[in-house]
Amino acid sequence: MAERVIPLIDQRIAALASAVPTHAIPTTGLLSDALGRPLRDLRISVTDRCNFRCSYCMPKEVFDTDHQYLPHSDLLTFEEITRVARQFVAHGVRKIRLTGGEPLLRKNIEVLIGQLAALRTPDGDALDITLTTNGSLLARKAQALKAAGLQRVTVSLDGLDDAVFRGMNDVDFPVAEVLKGIEAARRAGLGPIKVNMVVKRGTNEHEILPMARHFKGTDVVARFIEYMDVGATNGWRMDEVLPSAEVIELIGSQLPLVQLSRSAAGETAQRWGYADGSGEIGVISSVTQAFCGDCNRARLSTEGRLYLCLFATQGHDLRSLIRGGAGDDQLASAIGHIWQGRSDRYSQLRSSLAPDSTAGAKRVEMSYIGG
Ligand code: SAM
Ligand code: SF4
Ligand code: SF4
Repeated sequence: MAERVIPLIDQRIAALASAVPTHAIPTTGLLSDALGRPLRDLRISVTDRCNFRCSYCMPKEVFDTDHQYLPHSDLLTFEEITRVARQFVAHGVRKIRLTGGEPLLRKNIEVLIGQLAALRTPDGDALDITLTTNGSLLARKAQALKAAGLQRVTVSLDGLDDAVFRGMNDVDFPVAEVLKGIEAARRAGLGPIKVNMVVKRGTNEHEILPMARHFKGTDVVARFIEYMDVGATNGWRMDEVLPSAEVIELIGSQLPLVQLSRSAAGETAQRWGYADGSGEIGVISSVTQAFCGDCNRARLSTEGRLYLCLFATQGHDLRSLIRGGAGDDQLASAIGHIWQGRSDRYSQLRSSLAPDSTAGAKRVEMSYIGG
């Protein structure tokens, strides 16, 4: 087996200073980046902490008791998050996804959801507000989240076999509790629910068919995600990626599938429906089929850095502007300026990059900016 190199570097040290541009960038809702891509989707990480230690995201040997999480004073407050989000919405954002770390660990998260739910697009429409969670606290919180204004949840679940799942979350957390959370979310009206399974060849590919079968005929959509080379700590190897094409072939051989159209531009998942009409599945081929061409996602880290790509090495420090007294127009202009300069398309370039040129040692961690 090839030796794994797990570089220990704190990406939080690297930040790009943000400045207010000399010319104002008006919030027309029509902002586009250097490749003509609009800004539609904002993912907000509300904590860098998690109660799981998924090996592909927060491996125990790195995120151990010595790991320094961000101090509370470094985190954006709910008011600060809402203020920044308002400027993003003015520039065209229609969908906000809360993530982490584990977002349900952030105290009083429903207060933030309430504030975000009150935002309106320039046309007066409400936003699509969703949250990605490991499901461990969902049974307890689903009702309150719905009442606060959350519309949907995506739940991560890497297998239905208890031993496999306990091994992958690495904190011995049982499948049954996550299934209870999914059921509670369904009852609370947080649907349509998506269940995300990261597929790692050699670890959980035998869970693909049971997962598909379990949710077939329900209104829950199972989605299979290619294991990504995100971050610098998971020791990613290409031979552990199971291409989505193989997932589709495997499921389709037992449960016939037909391809469906994408639900919206910029959607990450390819949709497939069961030929007998009993629901659908999705595959997210982040490694084998780049979807940078219409990537309209911005990511705001827990401490207020704006990342333009999941594989970015540096984020733009918006917190210093917020705490430095910038007005709303100035903040909006700074965001506009940063987005206009965006040319990131890592997944498209991945195969042409030399293995040692991918800056893996400096890439931001998934647990820091969320998925
Ligand atoms: N803790 C929450 C959860 O697990 O749903 C939210 C944050 S987690 C970083 C967001 C999503 O990223 C999860 O669905 C997780 O499975 C996925 N993820 C994390 N590391 C990944 C990797 N290396 N490749 C593919 N997906 C990954
Ligand atoms: Fe935690 Fe989610 Fe990362 Fe797993 S994938 S370690 S649940 S943040
Ligand atoms: Fe978007 Fe970056 Fe992913 Fe491409 S690699 S789809 S630009 S986040």
